[in-house]
Amino acid sequence: MSGALSLREVSKTYDRVRAVDRISLDVVAGEFVTLLGPSGSGKTTTLQMITGFVDPDEGQIILDGRELTALASHRRNIGMVFQNYALFPHMNVEQNIAFPLEARGIDRAERRRRIGRALDLVGLGGFERRLPRQLSGGQQQRVALARAIVFQPPLLLMDEPLGALDKKLRDRLQLEIMELSRTLGVTVIYVTHDQEEALAMSNRIAVFHRGRIEQVGPPAELYERPASVFVAGFVGDSNMFTGTLDAEVLRSGPWQLRVDRAKTACLGHATAATIVVRPERLRVEPASVGDEAGLAGIVRQAIYLGATMKYVIELSDGRRVNARMHAGSQSSSIGVGDAVGVSWDIADGIVLPGEPEQTSLAGEPDGSP
Ligand code: ADP
Ligand code: MG
Repeated sequence: MSGALSLREVSKTYDRVRAVDRISLDVVAGEFVTLLGPSGSGKTTTLQMITGFVDPDEGQIILDGRELTALASHRRNIGMVFQNYALFPHMNVEQNIAFPLEARGIDRAERRRRIGRALDLVGLGGFERRLPRQLSGGQQQRVALARAIVFQPPLLLMDEPLGALDKKLRDRLQLEIMELSRTLGVTVIYVTHDQEEALAMSNRIAVFHRGRIEQVGPPAELYERPASVFVAGFVGDSNMFTGTLDAEVLRSGPWQLRVDRAKTACLGHATAATIVVRPERLRVEPASVGDEAGLAGIVRQAIYLGATMKYVIELSDGRRVNARMHAGSQSSSIGVGDAVGVSWDIADGIVLPGEPEQTSLAGEPDGSP
């Protein structure tokens, strides 16, 4: 199975906006790679350069050893699914899915066979005669998916395909798309601003930020070893303590927080740095346990989430942290208003250069372009 894709130093500038800034990415055949980033970070522009809807200013895009940039869009043999379905409204399901086959000169009998198989794969066998308006949003997106895979492309690109659907349907279609891509062995480049979706679906995630890829790796690697404060803030929940690194401590507000100096050797002294601690790595103990209990705080919220408890704790300097632990664990008897100490193993404090940006790091629903 083919479908190996390489982007090499690809850039695109619109007017004065550097939409995509020298990105490089190698995707192996059959891999599921997600481009994750906030609105405006360059994800759609990157996909459009792969499809050929947008020409890069510089760089190379190579699919199975072939340079794509010289090839017209319709000759690239790439499947594409958009957020807004993009079905032809006056054509029924069969005619919609037949479209790419007709364009390739495939005869009627073979078209029938392939359309039937594609519809079975997306769970819509028997829907051939329906018009798009006679289908729900989820069904329309399944048709768009069938149309994108029916000509057996080695590469499938999906731009926020589930963005318009409700959460339950999204969760189900996530699983179906993953299974389908594995069944077909097709390479998938999937775009989303939803980090949970990216974590759930991908072999690897490329985190986009201002037109650049900030980090590429498997979900667990991004979560456990984020390469930057931006990645730490965008992928998963986190608590951040910013300050100045000084020998073995980070001076942050009233505190001197110990850091693992072996891991921060590359960071100079007196540099701005941030300690990132994931909520499940925070230890929360009743203040009465003793002086060693850590940063002093008061529990402001204790939220029961079934398997876990979530705590919001206001520290003595007014900052708030989130902790998460198994419901029923020793600490889960802690309640709102309790005085507690918050601490973590030094090894669980990820030390990164710089500080979080002041602007919101969260992705916004993406209506672009
Ligand atoms: P994303 O898909 O991550 O939300 P886009 O690739 O759509 O990001 O956009 C990246 C940047 O390029 C944004 O600043 C956006 O406003 C700009 N941009 C995208 N398309 C165009 C266009 N056709 N003309 C001008 N600017 C554009
Ligand atoms: Mg987009």
